[in-house]
Amino acid sequence: MFALAADAPPATRVPSGAQVELETADCFSDQIRHSDDRLAAVDWEKINPATGPVFVEDAQPGDVLAVHVERIEVAGQGVMAVSDGFGVLAERFRGTEIRLVPIVGGQARIAEGVDVPVDPMIGVLGVAPAGAAVPTGTPGSHGGNMDTRLIAEGATVYLPVSVPGALLAVGDLHAAMGDGEICGTGVEVAGRVTLRVTVRRDLQIVNPVVETPKVVATVASASTLDEAATLATRDMADLLGTRLGLSSAAATVLMSAAGDLQVSQVVDPLKTARFALPKSVVSQYGRALL
Ligand code: CA
Ligand code: ZN
Repeated sequence: MFALAADAPPATRVPSGAQVELETADCFSDQIRHSDDRLAAVDWEKINPATGPVFVEDAQPGDVLAVHVERIEVAGQGVMAVSDGFGVLAERFRGTEIRLVPIVGGQARIAEGVDVPVDPMIGVLGVAPAGAAVPTGTPGSHGGNMDTRLIAEGATVYLPVSVPGALLAVGDLHAAMGDGEICGTGVEVAGRVTLRVTVRRDLQIVNPVVETPKVVATVASASTLDEAATLATRDMADLLGTRLGLSSAAATVLMSAAGDLQVSQVVDPLKTARFALPKSVVSQYGRALL
């Protein structure tokens, strides 16, 4: 599927609390497998596919879907691209150049003799919006193409539910990616994800929140990075207010002293920023943030 849509027919139905295993194609729909695959043969309409949607029983608009990432397995070869059509340095290129990236022994071979440690993450993870369908390549309040490194094994992604069943879809695995995803691709790779999906009725969020073993991060997307950064910061202050009862001043002081405003990606149709707060600091308030 290439759009998150309220009217998309569910691929599967599961109860809240269920484990879900999904196979995902890479962001090129697995069209580039060999070094002699011709770019001209790539169908650029088939970019950023997602697998799903998963209908989660009991999920209703106004609820929050907690998606715990139990496992990410990646295939043995990734692919990257530089292009005059996307990425921060687009003007330095003519056309599109593909690099195949062998993945062996927990390392992604970026160049002959140069390895980058494999650190698998999920690029696209989202639910269906209430209104018009959103392409799977676009990030937003529904999640989608957030390209946020924190969405890795052990993380939980909290998404506001907008349609019955939530209609969760996942794709665009990266064997490795740096913050910003500056060339427009991470080490794009096919694979399999194991998730646990749980409906939460006790949380109120308007944008995605990611919890890792170390931090809680609000994630926001907007047409500029400045806007996205402001939104993510506001969301964290709001979360601290509603969940921990902190005043704006108390939340702001805490966030300025201990939080990190970070860049997720700057290359998708909207830019994504996040505000990350260490759980070791938050836990001192003695109440659950999520
Ligand atoms: Ca992506
Ligand atoms: Zn990707």
